[in-house]
Amino acid sequence: MSVPCPECKKALELDQTSSRFYCGTDWCAALGMETPVWRALETSGLAAPNPAGLPRPLHWGLPVPWVAPRAADEVWWRALDARRLADAQNHWLCQGCGFALDDEAWVMATPEGQVLQAALHETCKDMALESCPHLSSDATRATPRLITRNQLFTDGRPVAHAAPSDPHFLHQWELEMTEQHA
Ligand SMILES: [Zn+2]
Ligand SMILES: [Zn+2]
Repeated sequence: MSVPCPECKKALELDQTSSRFYCGTDWCAALGMETPVWRALETSGLAAPNPAGLPRPLHWGLPVPWVAPRAADEVWWRALDARRLADAQNHWLCQGCGFALDDEAWVMATPEGQVLQAALHETCKDMALESCPHLSSDATRATPRLITRNQLFTDGRPVAHAAPSDPHFLHQWELEMTEQHA
């Protein structure tokens, strides 16, 4: 699967760390210019439908989260669609299925209280844990926590009192650390 550079039409390269495409063609005006995967797919017309709801579309037997950028034959599991993620954060939607959440929802949180992006329904959390082992890997040490929106902070403020999450400046949610578990 290759995504063409809008300028030189050669295949863009993927920076695995930032999950952004960039053009590596020496003579191209867009050389080195970075584009998030979801935007490059949209610009090139290669984005495949990834509608909200359950059951999720499958890719090689794995459920595709609502926030994952998707083309006909490829899913970028870690390159999240920032616009959908901002919607999920602002409107209390599930990042797994895109539907509205109840007052209580699940988040994956690190021991330091850093939330992995957004919240989930219980079924969607179970589905994510089953199909994305990296969510709870040694790297993140994240565990599921049942919370309400009032327990979430971003940039030191309750999310209800913070500026909305923006695709170019996404919230990093944190759990209020009211009690310390030894
Ligand atoms: Zn180019
Ligand atoms: Zn869901």
